[in-house]
Amino acid sequence: MSHYNEQLIQFVVDFANTYDPFLDEPEFLRTPADLQEFLAKHPFEISGPLTETEFIRICQLRDRLRDIFLRLETSEPVEIQRVINGLLEATPVNLQASLSGGGPIEIKYEIPTTVALVERLAVQTGLGLTLALQQYGPERLKVCAAAPCQEVFIDVSKNKSRRFCGERCANRYNVAHFRERQRSDKD
Ligand SMILES: [Zn+2]
Repeated sequence: MSHYNEQLIQFVVDFANTYDPFLDEPEFLRTPADLQEFLAKHPFEISGPLTETEFIRICQLRDRLRDIFLRLETSEPVEIQRVINGLLEATPVNLQASLSGGGPIEIKYEIPTTVALVERLAVQTGLGLTLALQQYGPERLKVCAAAPCQEVFIDVSKNKSRRFCGERCANRYNVAHFRERQRSDKD
């Protein structure tokens, strides 16, 4: 997979995880400056500071993306297709074939920077999701099984058996279930 595609997939996962109900303060994007800082860590061109309206619309886009992840397991393919197409149709995209550095040919997506940021992000999100589904399949796009955590991640384990976002949740889940078993043994 090209570096460019990997970046898009990583963006989608990181963007969805800017809200974490496990934490006392689940919202990472509390102000336009927080969002700007988040976007600066990803390859996006932003011209000038974000307005309050842009900020609100981009947070709504993030909520849409989270909703897709949370319902992926129970959604019909036609429903997944519908929501992704809803993102992709935000604005037209210019496509270009690129053969640089002697690597394999790549398709580059270009969206003019004059297009509203939220629309550019919607298309990037739709593309990133499509690439992730294409590369890994919906069964590997997971939500952490240790409630209340809802961190999303891509399960790249050999037998698709990963259930938790990380050590933190795996340990927490195992301790809780160990206690539960102990309690039921006493009863
Ligand atoms: Zn977790």
